[in-house]
Amino acid sequence: MKFVYLFQEGDADLKNLLGGKGGNLCEMTKLKLPVPQGFVVSTEACLDYYEKGMLTDEVKSQILTALEKVEKQTNRTFGDGENPLLLSIRSGARVSMPGMMDTILDLGLTDKTVKTFAKTTTPFFAYDCYRRFIQMYGNVVMGIDDTLFEKEIAKIKKANKVKTDQELTAENLQELIKNYKVLYKEQTKKAFPQDIREQLLNCVESVFRSWNNERAKTYRKINNIPDDWGTAVNVQMMVFGNLNNDSGTGVCFSRNPSSGENIIFGEFLMNAQGEDIVAGIRTPQPIQKLKDISERLFIELQNYLIILENYYKDMQDIEFTIENGKLWILQTRNGKRTASAGIKIAVDLANEGHIEKETAIQRIEPEKISELLHSNLELNENHTAIADGIPASPGGASGRICLTSKMAKEICEKGENAILVRKDTSPEDIEGMAVAEGILTATGGMTSHAAVVARGMGKVCVSGCEELEITAKTVRIGGKSFKEGDYISIDGNTGKIYGEKIELSTNIQNKELETLLSWAKEKSSLKVYANADTPKDAQNANFFGAEGIGLCRTEHMFFGAERIKEMRKMILSKSKKEREVALKKLLPLQKNDFEAMFKTMNGKPLTIRLLDPPLHEFLPKTKAEIKEIATEMGVEPIEVETRIEALKEVNPMLGHRGLRLAVTYPEIYEMQTKAICQGAIHASKKVENKIDIEIMIPLTSDLNEFLFVKEIVKTTAEKTIGDKDIGIKIGTMIETPRAVMIASDLASECDFFSFGTNDLTQLTYGFSRDDSGKFLDDYVEKGIFKSDIFKSIDTKGVGKLLEMAITSARRINPNIKIGICGEHAGDPLSIKYFKKLDIDYISCSVFRVPVAIVGAI
Ligand code: PEP
Ligand code: MG
Repeated sequence: MKFVYLFQEGDADLKNLLGGKGGNLCEMTKLKLPVPQGFVVSTEACLDYYEKGMLTDEVKSQILTALEKVEKQTNRTFGDGENPLLLSIRSGARVSMPGMMDTILDLGLTDKTVKTFAKTTTPFFAYDCYRRFIQMYGNVVMGIDDTLFEKEIAKIKKANKVKTDQELTAENLQELIKNYKVLYKEQTKKAFPQDIREQLLNCVESVFRSWNNERAKTYRKINNIPDDWGTAVNVQMMVFGNLNNDSGTGVCFSRNPSSGENIIFGEFLMNAQGEDIVAGIRTPQPIQKLKDISERLFIELQNYLIILENYYKDMQDIEFTIENGKLWILQTRNGKRTASAGIKIAVDLANEGHIEKETAIQRIEPEKISELLHSNLELNENHTAIADGIPASPGGASGRICLTSKMAKEICEKGENAILVRKDTSPEDIEGMAVAEGILTATGGMTSHAAVVARGMGKVCVSGCEELEITAKTVRIGGKSFKEGDYISIDGNTGKIYGEKIELSTNIQNKELETLLSWAKEKSSLKVYANADTPKDAQNANFFGAEGIGLCRTEHMFFGAERIKEMRKMILSKSKKEREVALKKLLPLQKNDFEAMFKTMNGKPLTIRLLDPPLHEFLPKTKAEIKEIATEMGVEPIEVETRIEALKEVNPMLGHRGLRLAVTYPEIYEMQTKAICQGAIHASKKVENKIDIEIMIPLTSDLNEFLFVKEIVKTTAEKTIGDKDIGIKIGTMIETPRAVMIASDLASECDFFSFGTNDLTQLTYGFSRDDSGKFLDDYVEKGIFKSDIFKSIDTKGVGKLLEMAITSARRINPNIKIGICGEHAGDPLSIKYFKKLDIDYISCSVFRVPVAIVGAI
């Protein structure tokens, strides 16, 4: 079996085997880009390592054979020789997991080779590389605490009265190496190994091991990356960006990863190693400044980016090194980007003819679209920024200062917002970043760990804030002191920091998103409607591109302060007569809302559901509320309390709700039907398109029950509409398993069905929608359920019920319109399944509409 591939032997199609980074190194080699040569130890070797508990002789021998070939290609020798070959050993999984696994650099130096290396470079440089190698090898491979090495450096600097590493001499470094070796021996009980082939094999093994370190496992969990993929290992010739002032290193994107603009974007540092940029220790210079240092290098770099982008047909993120004036490309990958940049880039690439429209849509993860609806700080002239940083990931965030991930988690568990404030972030901070609203760092640029990870997660991030000083429990920002737990706000669009809590607003304007959504609608046969309950919601539904309203929950129209009072009077009425008086007052309120919604929809479908929840949900709860309503009704509070008591149910979700209310109080649905019809009549005079009213009856479980209620609705509607040119459609929600079983009977009496998958899931499992959250988490955590059944549809059980009902309904009534309006309709995973069903539309909450449109393609 082949476990090891030279860069010339592989390609990007072998990504599963060679990892993303390895596959791309092979691809760049084919494109004849200046790539330092090397080889990839495959993910299969990693899985083999885990199966056998060691690197087998076969894998070892393939590694050493590949090494010999790389020596020939590079004209350098590994170990002793005129021109020593130094290697970097890096992880590379199928998808990028930035900074989560181990890396070892400068492999190939021994007590002997360092001397030759000192001649081909400089003594300071050579001994510095060697001491770095011992430190990395000791830490990563042998698990020696890194701070012990750092202490040794501190000691030597103190003894020589210097402040920075750069001020040490080659002799100082030689002494440091001696001390490192003593430390190594103390900690491992073995001398530092001089057999570099053995070192190489140990490094490969340690990278494989790092696939299962805690931070990599957490990252995989957050990003849904399977544990059984394993990582490949890239073994590559080292080139040095820190060799001298004609050397440098950088990271560059072929387009701007924040805005999507088609201009190369990146950062570099002269006389530095790649890690210096990624770790955010020094603040780098913008890539355009490279022109001032060398126009030739800048143009060369730009050309490589064009070659790579044209080849991969996507925005590329490369790492490069300049060694003694020669440009090397170390890595390329599809660049991480903000949601809005992702959409702009996809739309631009399609418009530039690089990709099809369909590909552009498929490139957008539906969930990412919700990031576009990102909150921004609602700033006014009273807000003054206290400091500035680099705007590393867009949006606004306001929350409590948390100096550790632990604190961020505690704050979030209390339901509060956290801003993680760190000098720089490292992979250990991943859990804090996942829960925080925003991240603020003192060092680092656009491509530092904090920035890359925050953008990927859609978190707001400001990095490189030079006026941020952090101590154990306090911070100073722009000269102002804060305690941990105090409020700050950060603006990821401008990089500004504010020392106070600021309200957030939602920015939803995006030209490219509109284009993308219109393309998606052209291509998809499954329409996306919105669940919208008010005139304002209806406007938003249109704005987001919904093709209709699939569910207007009329109970939500009673929530205003005045309305709830009238509603309460209606519920507390003791006789039909009293109730009718109260209903009369509610009628014009409902009518006006319906009229406004019909106008906004201008003939597009508007499905209005009659009152659904149990009545006591609307009743007053506090003593003061009870007293107020009693006074309005001219009765004693005790009378109100008695009525509330009488309405209480042990299990309201299985109680007097939905059409059951209309069986007892037909006058409620009569009033609502009248209001809908009157609203439609008024609106029809002001809109161009014909209006069809669609009245939906909730929670049906029996044909006679449905027919009883339908008759009330139908008679009232026909009487109100008279001979006006307005269509009447009556349908039902399918929310109970019994409604599924009698779907063919119901279909012959209905113009449309809408599946209420929230209730259908609740009643199929017998898991309460309101209470089961407490134990559903355990089901997911223990792997009993793949995910929350109220979020992603259960295809095996609830899905089977949908399929049964759809088939039998269509058999009886082929033209019946069928949709889904439970929360699942906004979940991309569920939409994937709904696409396979013979339905006309899905209807989801307004803010999920763009997500659903992209998911429906
Ligand atoms: C449902 O049950 O899925 C539904 C849409 O209705 P509601 O959530 O209002 O009960
Ligand atoms: Mg329901």
